[in-house]
Amino acid sequence: MALIQITEPGQAVDPHQRKRAAGIDLGTTNSLIASVREGQTETLQDVVGNSLLPSVVHYGADKNGASEITVGAAALAKATTDPMNTIASAKRLLGRGLAELAGTEAAEQYAFVPVQEGMVQLQTAAGSTSPVQVSAEILKTLAQRGSETLGGELDGVVITVPAYFDDAQRQATRDAAELAGLQVLRLLNEPTAAAVAYGLDSGDEGLTVIYDLGGGTFDVSLLRLSRGVFEVLATGGNASLGGDDFDHRLMSLMRAKLTPDLVLSPSLNRRLLMQARFCKETLSTEATVNFELTEGDLHLTGSISRAEFEDAIADLVDETIRSARRVMRDAGLGEEAVDQVVLVGGATRVPLVRAKVESYFGKAPLTHIDPDRVVALGAAMQADVLVGNKPDAEMLLLDVLPLSLGLETMGGLVEKLIARNTPIPVQRAQEFTTFKDGQSAMLIHVMQGEREQVADCRSLARFELKGIPAMVAGAAKIRVVFQVDADGLLSVSASETGTGVTAAVVVKPSYGLSDQEITQMLKSSFAHAQEDAEARMLLEARLDAEQLTEALRSALAQDGEALLSDEVRLGLFQGIDQLAQVAGGSDVALIKAETEKLSQASDPFAALRMDQEVRRALAGHTLDDVLPVESS
Ligand code: ADP
Ligand code: MG
Repeated sequence: MALIQITEPGQAVDPHQRKRAAGIDLGTTNSLIASVREGQTETLQDVVGNSLLPSVVHYGADKNGASEITVGAAALAKATTDPMNTIASAKRLLGRGLAELAGTEAAEQYAFVPVQEGMVQLQTAAGSTSPVQVSAEILKTLAQRGSETLGGELDGVVITVPAYFDDAQRQATRDAAELAGLQVLRLLNEPTAAAVAYGLDSGDEGLTVIYDLGGGTFDVSLLRLSRGVFEVLATGGNASLGGDDFDHRLMSLMRAKLTPDLVLSPSLNRRLLMQARFCKETLSTEATVNFELTEGDLHLTGSISRAEFEDAIADLVDETIRSARRVMRDAGLGEEAVDQVVLVGGATRVPLVRAKVESYFGKAPLTHIDPDRVVALGAAMQADVLVGNKPDAEMLLLDVLPLSLGLETMGGLVEKLIARNTPIPVQRAQEFTTFKDGQSAMLIHVMQGEREQVADCRSLARFELKGIPAMVAGAAKIRVVFQVDADGLLSVSASETGTGVTAAVVVKPSYGLSDQEITQMLKSSFAHAQEDAEARMLLEARLDAEQLTEALRSALAQDGEALLSDEVRLGLFQGIDQLAQVAGGSDVALIKAETEKLSQASDPFAALRMDQEVRRALAGHTLDDVLPVESS
């Protein structure tokens, strides 16, 4: 297995020219852009001084029917009045097919139009759009902020994605960046970015938990740092739990306090929700908060204490702790093994969240970097290195493959080319050969997973290498190269080394694996290790038997009558039948013994064929032509 040299992008640097690089946190609720300037990493602000850009895009049409697209706070303001044309939380839809979204909240909220390839489109007043296009609008707005602040077009960006994002979601993120005209240096896992912002990558090794509670999602990841590489040991969380749920709990509390039986108009209801959010954020630093709402003659006031709020959300926070516990259990580790806990996401400002996290892990979490910004800041640091501004920077931080990648080989077995947890980018090559005489095509079946058999792994792609020149079995050399880029995207190529015929695929599965599925696949591989090893031995024994009978049959067909007595020939045919019968069973030792027996029985025949070959080759030559002339 050859490990091929990997070149990192942008390592050649003109020392006199700093490049403009930025890190982008493309969030479900809020997005940010950050950059390293004069040694300081900072988030970049819009003209009115806001760092956070609400991840919301409004698609309207002006009087003449021309489309008008607004992004950020202005779009968010339209969410209440024009919800159908205001797309929020597009990140939840990225790289997802209609089938996957069926029954989700988003499916009820937006008008999806089915398109080919199964990805969704959204119908708006300004025509149809897609989650990729919505994300591109957000990226464009941030990039513009970046180039205005940094004084020119950006040379490259690092965009963060959740650790559990699969290939399709990562590819959709890349597509959005391309649409926004951005040069993507790398996609980086959000928890990894947070760890980088805290400088944890400069440590030797250690276990870090990243607890990320955003607006509508909760992600918890366990990272292990070793030799400068972060490995995602386990991830978990809840895709429909976040700070917004706190808002709803607080709103119910406020309603109960106000006028339990008063029916609020929809507009008042919406304003109450906005008030609830404001109250929640205030309660992160104050012990009580007052609120008031007026509509016409109606004048409502009230106050909420932090204790009341905490009471109302305690079960939600407990739920996040349960997720964290599951992650630790999946990794087979206890809380005491964790070296540090990092808080990410605006909702971790809630004091109750901090308290519960601290009490579960038994140590104070790291909070001194703004939890809203920490991901963008880490991404900016990576971007600065990747764009080449730090030529003497140490080893670049890498992510690892979550599951092994391999190929289906004969007998339904999986040959792993790249083991799980291998740092990416990576390229590995291996040579395979043909199984049958004259085989002119080879099916390349790309697999993902830890188990030994095809049936237990996940199929990623299939393609065929055609035009292999006719040769005897085992003579063709098929070189298969697996290449995983820094974003975790896999390309596979196969070529016949003699003729150079090549076939290749880029693996872009439209439905990837969720973190639960990955965990499940890993668990089952551990549970079945013994069973798998036995199954592998059986399949290999059968394969050897099949290969021998195949070769012997073809030899008998060619030369059997010319070289063997009827009796010997019949004996060999019987041997073939007998071996075939045994190979149908599952006694590995017996299959091996019968294979060996037939192999020995056919040895004299093989020798006769060899002699015949030599005689043919020598025909028309004298011995002097082929034997070395002895010097006298
Ligand atoms: P995402 O990663 O999903 O884009 P963020 O990390 O920006 O989301 O988190 C947004 C959430 O954080 C919202 O629910 C917001 O109300 C909440 N939040 C922001 N500031 C505070 C605060 N001071 N106290 C409590 N919650 C806050
Ligand atoms: Mg976030």
